[in-house]
Amino acid sequence: MPVVKVETREVSSYTGRMNKRIRPTHCYLCGEKLVEPTSVDHVPPLLFFPKEMRRRYNISNLLTIPVHAACNREWQEDEEYFVHTLLPMTGGSEAGDAHHIRIREKIKAGKNVFLVNQVMDEFKSVIKGVHLPANRVAKFIDHHRAYGVIWKIIRGLYFHHHGVILPKEWGMRYWITAPYEPPEPFFKDYADSGRGVSRGEYPKIFSYFFDRFQPDGWDFHYWGFHLWDSLIVTAMFHDPWRCGCPVCQFVGPVFPESMEGTVRA
Ligand SMILES: [Zn+2]
Ligand SMILES: [Zn+2]
Repeated sequence: MPVVKVETREVSSYTGRMNKRIRPTHCYLCGEKLVEPTSVDHVPPLLFFPKEMRRRYNISNLLTIPVHAACNREWQEDEEYFVHTLLPMTGGSEAGDAHHIRIREKIKAGKNVFLVNQVMDEFKSVIKGVHLPANRVAKFIDHHRAYGVIWKIIRGLYFHHHGVILPKEWGMRYWITAPYEPPEPFFKDYADSGRGVSRGEYPKIFSYFFDRFQPDGWDFHYWGFHLWDSLIVTAMFHDPWRCGCPVCQFVGPVFPESMEGTVRA
């Protein structure tokens, strides 16, 4: 499938904040021309920032990108799920606690009960008949939803920094690391290398880095988020336009012609 690359605005600088008054010509979520009705999408989701902390730290100038109102709405449930599903792993950070308070309030008001039950159901202390140690539970994550939200955040930030819309559907590997777990091996090497530049104005809630590697014609991106001062999410994907690795250059199976006389029409 050909991938259409949409350049939608002048790139002022790779590190500077996008001028919020510049209105993109396209919706980064669907890639189509931006037409009314529109709304602003927070990157990362506004939901990541608990109300109490927004008040406490006077957080107001979060990064937003105008998108189609309908495209924006499509993501609300998945983003709720993402926050609910990761919160139990935050291990008592300030942001984690603030989120817990918010969720308790919502439950009291009769909201989100279904979602919370679903998430709690995903915690299992018995897996395939094996009892885990008392202090450990396994968390099943709805991969499709988690993948979607992580990829959406990356696409939003990529658009913010580079003015380019990454494809809606694309392959990516991701890792979610709880505070009491060792991160994936590449992250350790990467952190040790000192190459990473941490970005984000409210690191107690969300900070991120991104980088790009181009060894031997390959071209891949490495992204990471530090969420609520406790979780690490890392992700890796091949550049949709420039990667020359065998997988990206593979155009599909080519079947040899059947030899004459072996197949009857
Ligand atoms: Zn759209
Ligand atoms: Zn590749």
